[in-house]
Amino acid sequence: MARRRQLYEGKAKILFEGPEPGTLVQYFKDDATAGNGAKSGIITGKGVLNNRISEHLMLRLQEIGIPTHFIRRINMREQLVKEVEIIPLEVVIRNIAAGSIAKRFGIEEGTRLPRTIVEFYYKNDELNDPLVSEDHIIAFGWACPHDLEDMTSMAMRVNDFLCGLFGGIGIQLVDFKLEFGRSWEGDDMRIVLADEISPDNCRLWDNQTNEKLDKDRFRRDLGNVREAYQEVARRLGILPEAGNGGDMKGPETMQ
Ligand code: ADP
Ligand code: MG
Repeated sequence: MARRRQLYEGKAKILFEGPEPGTLVQYFKDDATAGNGAKSGIITGKGVLNNRISEHLMLRLQEIGIPTHFIRRINMREQLVKEVEIIPLEVVIRNIAAGSIAKRFGIEEGTRLPRTIVEFYYKNDELNDPLVSEDHIIAFGWACPHDLEDMTSMAMRVNDFLCGLFGGIGIQLVDFKLEFGRSWEGDDMRIVLADEISPDNCRLWDNQTNEKLDKDRFRRDLGNVREAYQEVARRLGILPEAGNGGDMKGPETMQ
């Protein structure tokens, strides 16, 4: 197959031109960064696991009617997605206090919030992704009130569904980050879920032990990062089994 043209290389993924117009290939790397690149490393096998986990979650969400960019997985590290115009906002949904909200308001990590909180951050690495209000978003034209309403209601539906899905496999969904994009069909625009949903951008705690099964293991040097991602994949029932041919490799040998 002809080499695909690379369009963008980010911290965790590379975007290539897709086989048809309006499509992209998302390649999942093993690179991990934290604190906006202040800390970086490689988690061997992470790209393979996140590709599978994100595929699984996007497909489950599509089944309940959430529009997503996901089309199909191509191989162990790549998936075909619809090209969208990314809305430059990180939408963070929080159920339990952890990370920046715990720090900002002096809440002990692990405290359940009085209700689910949705926050918006302006997606801009140079500015360190600052927290923004709905007024900032509308005034600066990143999204209109209608788009905001769409994103918030989708974010809440995704949260309800994922809380149940993870709850069923003994995992608490503490918080997570979503990105949305505009998808055009002729003159019609709709907002769809884009990017990825994986332990890179969720906080997932074991129900029984509160053990962290997400990127905080890397951020906080807790060790066993890959094992934690594998555990999430295993509980979701999607860890590739060894010996089933093709491009599949067993978890021990995943590169
Ligand atoms: P970053 O370092 O900017 O977070 P990533 O390594 O996560 O980048 O690579 C993914 C990039 O692709 C992100 O900037 C994300 O906003 C963008 N993206 C995700 N899904 C799509 C899509 N369907 N169409 C266009 N861009 C996308
Ligand atoms: Mg990213």
